[in-house]
This record gives sequence, structure tokens and C-alpha cells, in this order.
Amino acid sequence: MTRRIAQLSAYVADQIAAGEVVERPASIVKELVENALDAGATQIDVRTEGSGVDLIWVADNGHGIHADDMVLALSRHATSKIAAADDLLGVASLGFRGEALASVASVARVRLSSRTAADALGHQLEVHASRTVSQRPIAHNEGTTVEVRDLFFNTPARRKFLKAERTENAQVDQILRRLSLAHLEVGFALRQSSTNAQRGPKTLNLAAGSLATRLGSVLSREFVEQSVEIDEQRGGLRLHGRVGSPQYHRRLADQQYFYVNGRAIRDKVVGHAIRQAYQDVMFHGRHAVYVLYLELPPEQVDVNVHPTKHEVRFREARSVHDFIFASLHRALRDIRPADGGLHAPPPTAAFAAQPSPTQGGLGLATPQPIPAAAPGGLAQVVSEARPDWTTEAPGEAEVPPLGYALAQLHGVYILAQNQAGLVLVDMHAAHERITYEKLKQEYAATGIARQRLLVPLAVDVTAGEAQLAEDCAAALAAAGLVVERLGEQALSVREVPVLLARKDIAALLRDFLADLAEFGTSAEIAERQLEVLGTLACHGSVRANRALSITEMNQLLRQMETTENAGLCNHGRPTYFQYSMDALDKLFYRGQ
Ligand code: ADP
Ligand code: MG
Repeated sequence: MTRRIAQLSAYVADQIAAGEVVERPASIVKELVENALDAGATQIDVRTEGSGVDLIWVADNGHGIHADDMVLALSRHATSKIAAADDLLGVASLGFRGEALASVASVARVRLSSRTAADALGHQLEVHASRTVSQRPIAHNEGTTVEVRDLFFNTPARRKFLKAERTENAQVDQILRRLSLAHLEVGFALRQSSTNAQRGPKTLNLAAGSLATRLGSVLSREFVEQSVEIDEQRGGLRLHGRVGSPQYHRRLADQQYFYVNGRAIRDKVVGHAIRQAYQDVMFHGRHAVYVLYLELPPEQVDVNVHPTKHEVRFREARSVHDFIFASLHRALRDIRPADGGLHAPPPTAAFAAQPSPTQGGLGLATPQPIPAAAPGGLAQVVSEARPDWTTEAPGEAEVPPLGYALAQLHGVYILAQNQAGLVLVDMHAAHERITYEKLKQEYAATGIARQRLLVPLAVDVTAGEAQLAEDCAAALAAAGLVVERLGEQALSVREVPVLLARKDIAALLRDFLADLAEFGTSAEIAERQLEVLGTLACHGSVRANRALSITEMNQLLRQMETTENAGLCNHGRPTYFQYSMDALDKLFYRGQ
């Protein structure tokens, strides 16, 4: 049977739009806070109860809504921000679609209260699932308060898509932090109450102030210390903010903030330019930390691409890309040491127990030298060769499978000679695998052995991370880290895994917390124990650019021979390649 076409009712249309705008509490908070910012508020207070499903409450001291416009504010395609399609080019406000409030009102019970400076009395409007239930004058400060209760009460199926309270709360927290970095002149306060009475409310307080102050509370004070300021202009483009030093990296890309004309965005062009700038200075597989603001003439960027407006389209994508890359590249080059790591530091004994010279401190004091790129010819051989010593029987009993070390190349590779020819070892990858296997055995037998630090180590983190560390102390201890909370944004590390004594504990701890934030409870973390061990191993492993003595190199080769899976590091990269004499001969057209 053919269905006839009918116009959707406004209510159904709102609900469909709501699917785009109102995915979860965090997206509602974003819309409401953006409205407050558009209204010129200087203080915005947000409260949630029970992951935001029970209540989302946003109060601002902005210019308010005229009593006669209250109903309109909750209707679809009603906006005070643009009037004509042409206004879309160069739109300066955060909102402009006029559908956020209507969408929220279609899936919850919403109470809108507001007063403008011109009115003596405020006005309140209550709407349940798009149906007006009451309207009355009330006393209200200048500004607007929006209360959203019983989210998705009329669309229970959508409630099922919500995650655990902790996850939803973390997203709300993150949204507010993200918005706050673009509005230093505005104070923000967040209070998240849990349905679990055992847990106290979580709060975040961001007073209006300087960029450094805000960065200190939104990221961490350590980031401020371990980052450089950047401010570059070219043509009509300006890029400013702070970029983390290449040594201040994270396992997750969770502290990367980029704003285009005051709007937080995620963009492929931008992401690529930044990654490229960090590429040769950033440790493999790690993520940079940055807060960057790009400003350009509004007509050069289209923000009307996506309903939630995370995406933009640049008119001149190529020149934006090149500008970002060049600016960052210059800034990062300036914090790189001048000598490209060729003057290796003096060899140290028993490297497994020794902190690397580049990791002596937690600060920037001793930057890590940057390895030069491998010569093209060698790279070509590498792509042809493959690890095969396990299948090739060594000819002479006294030469071990991986042979004996000859030299170290640029602090990254060990060159060794074995029966078949040349062995090239990535010393970080190899050591990582060895440490990983040791930890795995240790964990299976007794749990990770810990060692008390003589002097506890203080680590600065965000308040959220500190809370997480407190909540998940048992999981951290199981993984070998005994951590105590010292204050709002400070942790104290008292015990560390034996194998990792004196290594870069602060970075390790931060990674753990990022993991916990992403994967939630300690039960889930237990299931991911091997990955956690992998992180430990990676951190405990000798970094590229460590100078090793011939004896140390041979030790490493012997350890590799007795370690399971020694052919791959635990990130799946190969740890070594074998080049047969034949392959080398071919390279030089010998014997042909
Ligand atoms: P948009 O922000 O895209 O215009 P919304 O649905 O978010 O659409 O809001 C509709 C209108 O309601 C806004 O254009 C604005 O005029 C008014 N409004 C919403 N929130 C506030 C607020 N906090 N303060 C003042 N006006 C507001
Ligand atoms: Mg809006």
C-alpha cells in the first residue's frame, strides 16, 4: 500500500531535530551555556543531578529574554541572532539555528525564567514535552535560568543510550572546560550531584581571569610550565595560545583544544597540520597537549556545516593548513635542543635500573634530543627484510641468534652482527617488550611488586583527575601505584612498581588517569590489565637516544632471545630486522 505524504507535526519535527542537538546531557549543557554566552553573561552557573537526567540547571546574568518572547524562545526556528540567510556568512554568535531550546523542550520538562534590565518583574514559562503547562510573572535577577528536568521522560528508548553517571558527568565537565577556554572574561561554576548519596557533589570553579590562570585550572599548572606561548600572524590569519612541549605528551588525545573565532572545533585540516608539526619531535604514538586559537575574517570560514557546530569549512583550507603548520613548527623547533642528539650523553651502567639522562627530572630542564631521520637507502632495506632468526639455525654454536653488538646508531638502533649478517634492533621497542613480559609474569605470580619512594613525589593534575585518583586508588595500587590526594589539584605518589623505580612517574600517572577517565570503573580497568601493563612497560623502557655501552647492548640482545614475543614490541611494531649478507650484497650489486 502506498503511503500518502503528510507534513510532520511541529512536535515530531522537534523530536527529530532533538535527535541531532540533544544527544545527551552534555550537549544540552553546551547549548544552554552557549545561549548564556550569546546573552553576554559574565557569570554562568551550571548544576546537574543524576548524570543530568534528573536535572540540568543553568543560570546566567546575561541580558535576559523579554516576557513577550518567552514562548517564542521555546519554538522552533525562533532566534534573535540572525534574520536573513546572508547573515549566516560571518555569524558571530554561538547559536543561530533557533532549535536548541525547542528541541530540549520536546524531550523534557523545561522551566524558563528570565528578566531583562528594562523590566521590574521577571517571567516564567513551563513546558512539558513541548506543551505549555504554566506561565506567570516571578521575581528574578537580571538574566536567565533554564531548568531541564526528567530528560527523555517521553522518549524512554533514548535514555537507554546514556552511559554510566560517571561518564555523562565527565562529558558535562569536559564541555564546560572546553567552552571556558574560549571565554576567559566569564566565570563558570559547575556542581554535579550524584544519585548515589555516598558520593559528595563534584564541583568546578573557574573564576574570570588570565589565560594562564584558566589553563592552570582547566588543564594543569604543569601544562602551563611545560608549554610555550605562540602568537603568529600572516595575512588575515592569527594563531595564538600555548603548545605543550614535545616531552609533555599523553597517551590519549584528550587535552587538545582548538578554537576558530572563539568556537571550539574539531577539524581534519587543523588536526593534520598540528600532527605534522609535532611529527618528528613527538614520541611515536603519543599525543600532544595544546590550547590554540585561530582567528580569521568571518567570511573565510563556514560554521553552518553541522547541527552541533563542531565542524567548520575553511574557504582557503590549504593556506590555513600551511599557516598552522608553519607557526607550530617554528615554535616547536625553538624548544628543541640545537644539537640533534648526535653528542650522546655518557654511557650509564645497568640501564634497566637507571633513569635515562633525558628523564632525570619531570620538567623541561633536559629536553630530549631528536633523532635524525634514517637514510633512505637503509629504509629501503628495512622494508625488504623481516625477522627470521627463529627459523634460521645459527651456524656456529657460540654465536647467539641475535649476534653481538657492534655499535649504536643515533641513539635509536643497535647494530649487531650474527651468523646470517646484520641485525638492526630498535632498542626502545625491544626493551619495551622485555619489560612488558616481565611485568606480565610478575603480575600473574604475585601482582605488581611495589617499592616505597623515599621522598613521595608530588604531581599536579586537574581537579577531576585528582578525584579520579582518589576514587580508583585500589585499581592504581593493583597496578603498582600508591597515590594519595594532597589537595584540590595535587597528588602524592608514595609507591611505584619496582621495575619502574625513578622513571617518569608523573607522565605514567597522568596516562593512568586518562585511561581511568575513559574506561571508567576499576572493574573495567582490571579487565584491561594487560593494556595497563603495556603502558607501564612503555614508560619503563629505555627511550630512544639513550647511549648504551656495548655490554649493555649485548645484555639487551640476550634478554630479547629469552623473551617471549621478542619480535614485536607490545604496540605491534617490530623490534628488530635481520639483513642477510645476500640482501646487503644485492644492495651493492655484489656478486651479480
Ligand atoms: P539560537 O541560540 O540558535 O538562537 P536557541 O533555541 O538556543 O536558538 O534559543 C532561542 C532564542 O532564545 C535565542 O535566539 C535567544 O534570543 C533566546 N535565548 C535563549 N537562551 C537565552 C539566554 N540564556 N539569555 C537570553 N536569551 C536567550
Ligand atoms: Mg542556542
